[in-house]
Amino acid sequence: MPANFRAELVACFGQPVAENPTGAMQEAAFQALGLNWRYLTVEVPPARLRDAVVGARAFGMSGLNLTIPHKVAVMQYLDEVSPDAAMIGAVNTVRREGDRLIGENTDGKGFLRGVRLDAGMDPRGKRAAILGAGGAARAIATELALAGAANLLIVNRSRQRAEPMVRDVAANTKVPIRYEEWRGTWRVSPEFDLLVNATSIGLYPNVDDMPPVDFSGAAPSLLVADAVFNPPETRLLAAARARGLQVVDGLSMLVYQGVIGFRLWTGQDPPEHVMKRALKAALGIS
Ligand code: NDP
Repeated sequence: MPANFRAELVACFGQPVAENPTGAMQEAAFQALGLNWRYLTVEVPPARLRDAVVGARAFGMSGLNLTIPHKVAVMQYLDEVSPDAAMIGAVNTVRREGDRLIGENTDGKGFLRGVRLDAGMDPRGKRAAILGAGGAARAIATELALAGAANLLIVNRSRQRAEPMVRDVAANTKVPIRYEEWRGTWRVSPEFDLLVNATSIGLYPNVDDMPPVDFSGAAPSLLVADAVFNPPETRLLAAARARGLQVVDGLSMLVYQGVIGFRLWTGQDPPEHVMKRALKAALGIS
């Protein structure tokens, strides 16, 4: 067979992007499967996003990840956006079909996979409370609704961000969803099966911050999930564990959204344990 020195390329566009560890886990998976693929972590300012997508087309790149602040803006430069990503209103992954670039959103799907595989919970029929109304909360709420959750409560500080989100999820999924303004400490009532922190509270470097919630009224079967992945053991999860509650960390969501992306790009199943190990090593976690 003639030598082939041409690598398939995937990139993450973001700003700031230097601390994004996704490349480490994707490269580890490419290597484990012997694929001549490269994952580039590229700093792209908002004003150059259009050029960056044109460049990705010129390079014949096989896929993209988008992170802050490009998840919404990128949609206008793509040929198609999947129905789920359109519902969420954001794209974190782009795949290529021929010459066409198609936007997907794997954040909420990665979250669901973590809830199912790592915590053993089927979201169907479950009642979930979500802290936050940003991009992660939208993706998680939409996928929980599509997976058959019984109802959703959005708890968020600012009404301006929460109300349009609640309206969109209700219109797109028909799942009962309501909003409660977050003032002071939010008491978890026993009706909830799942509590998700989809705010950035507790994210490095503010690792001592904890979303003000009170678990004293929670059902003993409550599952507490955190989207924050750095550190994986947030103060919220530590507090939940201390009460004997089951938890699922943000690393799980991050690895699984990457697993789904890998499959969309390569058509192959990646070794998930290799990806998780590489991610932990990249974040300096044993
Ligand atoms: P956004 O900036 O879109 O949203 C942030 C949310 O956090 C808003 O609802 C905001 O509330 C709330 N918030 C921030 N600070 C406070 C505070 N001090 N008190 C109360 N609420 C606060 O961020 P994203 O949705 O993109 O990301 C949220 C988190 O999810 C981040 O930590 C991110 O790292 C993580 N994430 C994890 C992923 C994973 O794979 N594990 C994937 C994607 C995101 P308000 O509207 O009032 O400002």
